Amino acid sequence: MIKQKICIIGNGLTGLTAALILGKLNLEVHLIAAPDREKRKDIRTTAISDSNYKSLIDLIGKKYSKIFFQSKEIDLYKEYSGEIKHFMNLSNKNENLMFLFQNEILKKLIQRKINTYKNLKIYYKKVSKIDVEKNKVFFANKKIGYDAIFVCTGSKSEIVKSIFGDRFIESKTNEIAFTSIVNHNSNIDNAKQFFLKEGPMAILPLNKNKFSFVWSVSSKFKNQNPTPLVIKKLKETLKLKSDFTISKIDCFPISFKFRSNLNKKNILVLGEGSYNVHPVAGQGFNLILRDVLYLNSTIKEYVKNGIQIKDSLFVDEYLKQRKPENLLFGLGINFLNNFFKFNKITEPIKKVILKDINKLSILKDFSLRVSNKGIF
Ligand SMILES: Cc1cc2nc3c(=O)[nH]c(=O)nc-3n(C[C@H](O)[C@H](O)[C@H](O)COP(=O)(O)OP(=O)(O)OC[C@H]3O[C@@H](n4cnc5c(N)ncnc54)[C@H](O)[C@@H]3O)c2cc1C
Repeated sequence: MIKQKICIIGNGLTGLTAALILGKLNLEVHLIAAPDREKRKDIRTTAISDSNYKSLIDLIGKKYSKIFFQSKEIDLYKEYSGEIKHFMNLSNKNENLMFLFQNEILKKLIQRKINTYKNLKIYYKKVSKIDVEKNKVFFANKKIGYDAIFVCTGSKSEIVKSIFGDRFIESKTNEIAFTSIVNHNSNIDNAKQFFLKEGPMAILPLNKNKFSFVWSVSSKFKNQNPTPLVIKKLKETLKLKSDFTISKIDCFPISFKFRSNLNKKNILVLGEGSYNVHPVAGQGFNLILRDVLYLNSTIKEYVKNGIQIKDSLFVDEYLKQRKPENLLFGLGINFLNNFFKFNKITEPIKKVILKDINKLSILKDFSLRVSNKGIF
């Protein structure tokens, strides 16, 4: 019997994860990935939840668990008039709270893994066009037809714009994120989030002597050299011993953007091309992983029962389940970010609200459950 054929375009974390998961199905899979020379090195570190980690490690193999750093808890701090105050600790009694990894390391590992899939072929070419009517993908001098196409080409992709249009539910944040890796001798083994006057700074340990930070600040900082300010803040917040080093600081635009239209017939956009959430809660890739896992469970049923996925209801089923959850998550994260934004008038109220919040075990349990397994 001829296998049904799907195409995944893009080899960021989304495209590679989609290939890793959907490549396990009884389908012929093509991954079309921009050649290395066209790629920007991804220096980001990502935190994923315990349940997502378990799904991922099942696919890549337990022996690679060493690329993940396990954090048992996260401590939250708020800056008031130059003073840093601890206000909450989130920890899972018996489980790890989050698993941290460097994007490039996981990408290389997934790439190695999917190279062993016999039903998967990788083309290192840039897709120039997709014919929506005929379900065909154009790259190099080829044009190939598929039963389903998953576009994972990121937030700036022209292909996404041309197929799915340019309408968004959007809230302009006017923020950017600075991120880099710090080597130090201060023994830091749990994640931390500092809500500073300039914006939230997440500390994500990669081992006891190395962490990545993500600091979201106003875009007015964009043309400044961030290094002196980052050094000052790291000394103030973490009391780092002076012999620490910071790698080159990278800068990412951040926004809350949710594309209104996520599909055209059998073509679906996944990952940052479909929505961008603020990095303050470290949830972007967590949501994407849940999207791909749900997609996998839907398509699996079709394939198992010998049903054609082309022109079937699988896209509708996916959208019905995942669109509301992702939108709710994005809005919730935006609310969180706005609440903590420095505002001279509301700072005293926040001080009162946050004073005893660590005692609210219901709120803490709810936050832990939602960030681990999602809303629904
Ligand atoms: C600063 C920062 C920190 C973050 N931290 C976290 C975190 O802690 N936890 C979390 O869950 N999420 C986090 N996120 C979100 C997470 O990093 C992204 O959701 C994730 O990287 C997914 O990106 P992507 O693969 O969709 O897009 P991209 O990384 O942009 O990948 C798109 C890929 O498609 C390729 N491509 C583009 N056009 C074509 C074409 N025409 N043909 C072929 N290939 C093409 C590109 O070369 C690229 O490789 C963070 C985001 C930021 C900005």
